Amino acid sequence: MKIKFIGATEAVTGSKHLLITEGGSQVLLDCGLYQGFGKEKEEWNKKLDVNPSAIEAVILSHAHIDHSGNLPNLVKQGFNGKIYCTQATFDVCKVLLMDSAHIHENDVLYLNRRRERQGLPPVKPLYSVADAEQSLKFFNPVAYRKDCRVNNELSFMFTDTGHIIGSAAVNIICREHDKVTRLTFSGDVGRYKDMLLKAPEVFPQADYIICESTYGDRLHDIDINAESKLLEIVNHTCVEKQGKLIIPAFSLGRTQEIVFALDKMKNQQLLPDVKIYVDSPLSSSATEIMRKHKECLNASIHAYIQKDPDPFGFNSLTYIQSAEESKALNANPEPCIIISASGMADAGRVKHHLRNNLTDQKNTVLITGYCAPGTLGHRLVNGEKSVRIFGEYYTVNADIESILSYSAHADYNELTQFLSCQDKNKVKGIFLVHGENEAKASFMARLLIDGYKKVQIPGKGKIVDLE
Ligand SMILES: [Zn+2]
Repeated sequence: MKIKFIGATEAVTGSKHLLITEGGSQVLLDCGLYQGFGKEKEEWNKKLDVNPSAIEAVILSHAHIDHSGNLPNLVKQGFNGKIYCTQATFDVCKVLLMDSAHIHENDVLYLNRRRERQGLPPVKPLYSVADAEQSLKFFNPVAYRKDCRVNNELSFMFTDTGHIIGSAAVNIICREHDKVTRLTFSGDVGRYKDMLLKAPEVFPQADYIICESTYGDRLHDIDINAESKLLEIVNHTCVEKQGKLIIPAFSLGRTQEIVFALDKMKNQQLLPDVKIYVDSPLSSSATEIMRKHKECLNASIHAYIQKDPDPFGFNSLTYIQSAEESKALNANPEPCIIISASGMADAGRVKHHLRNNLTDQKNTVLITGYCAPGTLGHRLVNGEKSVRIFGEYYTVNADIESILSYSAHADYNELTQFLSCQDKNKVKGIFLVHGENEAKASFMARLLIDGYKKVQIPGKGKIVDLE
């Protein structure tokens, strides 16, 4: 079997690796979108670098757009095989791929208005809502730890990686004549003490491992008192200042963690009597999926559910759907908590809430996750006193707070723990992907010191023959 490394090599995003067996079958691991701006990434997303009609199947590690987001384009360009993933991943993909298609259509709408003014012909989106809908027909959900046969040569099994709901490592067995090769693709690896999800599972002994390395050079800083800090901020904002607390949060994961923390406080009668709103249709859908897929939740949540069947709902919490209800929050002078996407505050409804509430000192903005440089969330955390939203400048008088809570990615200690189920002497090679160059190089050095015999950092387009 050969591996052709295509995506998540030069860049962190765009996860995509092609397996080619001796019998000539081609199977793709992930088909992610390159994220961020730039002509080069746009071209990579369009071109795919594979022959879609020659690919028999895609095995998808998880639903994040940098792993799944180019599937509609693959189908549009002639892929006609099966897309294997866990049931929870399929449910999240239904929401995220449609959302991604809407974004592509809207981006092109805006661009084409400008092109029309310049007398240029219109351009088409990378894929449309109809393309995304079409791609969903190719999905084949498979349970964790169940053997699944792709063809006479290839079979695989998913094991949980605790990164997001439904996330999995792909453990492949390839039988070519009398040769058997075992390859594990880590996908993205989560944390060992996630508030909601199970810890990454052990996986079968592999000959080769394709391993992510996003935080291969870092240990996470964690606010161990995150929940008491959250309660303090709620009390200070909503009771003492009588203001609004705006919390930008990722739709999937962080929103449910915050809601669960508030749910616990409510049950302990610690929470003041204020209204709480989750204002993001994507967050509401993501919460539904979390409620449905209890098989992905950890033992402590299962114990909690025995006493409170809904860890993501209580009487003072409202999930807002319509834009009208969202707008009505602006006119309401009552103190309240608004949890809204996106987490970096660079898109989504949270931008409206920030625009309406940043200038008043009685309000607070609480940043709860990583914010990339250049995003509104990053500028607020950095203490900028005037920020631009929808083309206008707003003075920041509200308090800005942040809680360093759990990242969805393992740090280097946790990546090492993930690999610790393996007999190092039996691992013939590890390929590091999905990390910045420094992270990959640093993690490679760590693994070599640890006793792994061969660790490689494949470049884009590199083909490796697994002996
Ligand atoms: Zn991910």
